[in-house]
Amino acid sequence: MDTAGWTDTHAHLADAGLLSKLPSLLAQSVVYGVKRILCVAVDADSLDTIDTVYREWEQIQTAKPLVFNSVGIHPNHAQQEKPGDWEKVCDRVTDKRVCALGETGLDKYWDDCPFEVQLANFRRHWALSRQTGLPVIIHSRDCDVPMLELLRAEYRNGPLRGVMHSFCSSYEVATECIAMGLYISFSGMLTYKKNDSLRHTASRLPIDRLLVETDAPYLSPEPKRNARPNEPAYVAYTGRVLAELHARSESQMASTTTTNALRLFERMV
Ligand SMILES: [Zn+2]
Repeated sequence: MDTAGWTDTHAHLADAGLLSKLPSLLAQSVVYGVKRILCVAVDADSLDTIDTVYREWEQIQTAKPLVFNSVGIHPNHAQQEKPGDWEKVCDRVTDKRVCALGETGLDKYWDDCPFEVQLANFRRHWALSRQTGLPVIIHSRDCDVPMLELLRAEYRNGPLRGVMHSFCSSYEVATECIAMGLYISFSGMLTYKKNDSLRHTASRLPIDRLLVETDAPYLSPEPKRNARPNEPAYVAYTGRVLAELHARSESQMASTTTTNALRLFERMV
């Protein structure tokens, strides 16, 4: 399998600001060496917009990255869930373009949704992961303690398949997550000047568990920090920093993180 090039493992292509300029954004991704993009869902309605992403993607006849997607419900969207939404998520898992569940998880920063609702929402994604073998894309914000508690409980059912997305927590949290089977994905936050401790963490983690992402339209990396929206092409800037931290060339780090992504997201071929 061809593992050359970057894989943006987390981009919200269905976001209105990205969808409105999808052809140019995908062309720019090719220029930056991005070969694969995982388009991440946030709720049941986003699945319909993701269908629009694919319809547009199919129209493009020039070189373009491969696009895959996830299905799931974000903790900040769990409160707005309508009857039938979860069934819609479950119905989509057999779609061959679906290679992950999420994003889902826990968020105490925005506090948009009662924590009990978030916990129940997160747990049912794990049940679905065990049923389907699909990995879980995990959002964790200001939640290290309850996150680790829940993951440890799930781990009693066997190794976890998934990724801590846009990781910004400690080395200790990362190593425990890795020990339970998870991957660690770094976003543009890895490039921010103030984040020396995050870079120090990233430099000490096993290279075969690392992924890169943009979380576009958010978290534009240096030197595009002021770019709005962020876009998948810029995953190369985060990848460059990760390459330096692990004393690899950019092309080696692109290939390594893509190999890791293909191992985790088995349907991403
Ligand atoms: Zn996201």
